[in-house]
Amino acid sequence: MSELRISAIPGFADNYFWLLSVPDQPWAAVVDPGDATPVQRHLQQSGLQLEAILITHKHRDHTGGIRALKAAWPQAVVYGPSNEPIRQLEQRLQAGDQVTLPRLACQLQVLEVPGHTEGHLAYTMPGRVFCGDTLFAGGCGRVFSGTFAQLSASLQQLAQLPPDTLIYCAHEYTQANLGFAAWVEPDNLQLQARIARVAAQRDRGEATVPSTLAEELATNPFLRTREPDVVAAAEAWAQRSLSSPVAVFTALRTWKDRDYD
Ligand code: ZN
Ligand code: FE
Repeated sequence: MSELRISAIPGFADNYFWLLSVPDQPWAAVVDPGDATPVQRHLQQSGLQLEAILITHKHRDHTGGIRALKAAWPQAVVYGPSNEPIRQLEQRLQAGDQVTLPRLACQLQVLEVPGHTEGHLAYTMPGRVFCGDTLFAGGCGRVFSGTFAQLSASLQQLAQLPPDTLIYCAHEYTQANLGFAAWVEPDNLQLQARIARVAAQRDRGEATVPSTLAEELATNPFLRTREPDVVAAAEAWAQRSLSSPVAVFTALRTWKDRDYD
């Protein structure tokens, strides 16, 4: 079977709905279709039929297209988190479960990565992870219905994937995220190089997603809560000593929420 192809379908102002397909086969799966319209357009233009819908979490910008896509493709199976209130789900998943997409010759492992929301999932396959609003290029999601400790642990879990893993997050937030990263680590040379690279990509109208986990480990402050410079910056903002990576993470996330975004 030929190689899996991943396409970014842009939606709303800055979402990406990820479409999985294989050359010369009419089948596709979509991750987090917040809006059915651009997904339907892409399927039609490519002559594809929908086999599966994978949902990472309950927010409308990730689930809003399910109903219309199901109406158009009744055979598509809707997968998502077991402990979030998403009515249209047909297969409720938890950590350790697998999603098999036989027509795409593809199998995804389910990770639980709560924090942004209480039941957020990520889907991994060798070399790739679809992580919704948990880990972003250069940043991470806000804490809405989960906890800071959960999101910190979830990011540490994703950090254990192989460094060459491609990070398919759900939003084009990279440039703004890296601006905050530079507040935290103004002397990080890899970060400065990444900021220049991302600015050039955006000028050309290109997506900056997926990134690699290796890039995130080198430049994303939310994965660098053990780095002395990151700890020092978080402590300077919090005006107290922070005794654990979770405390550093919480200070960074709160700093960004209050002063940057
Ligand atoms: Zn969200
Ligand atoms: Fe979102």
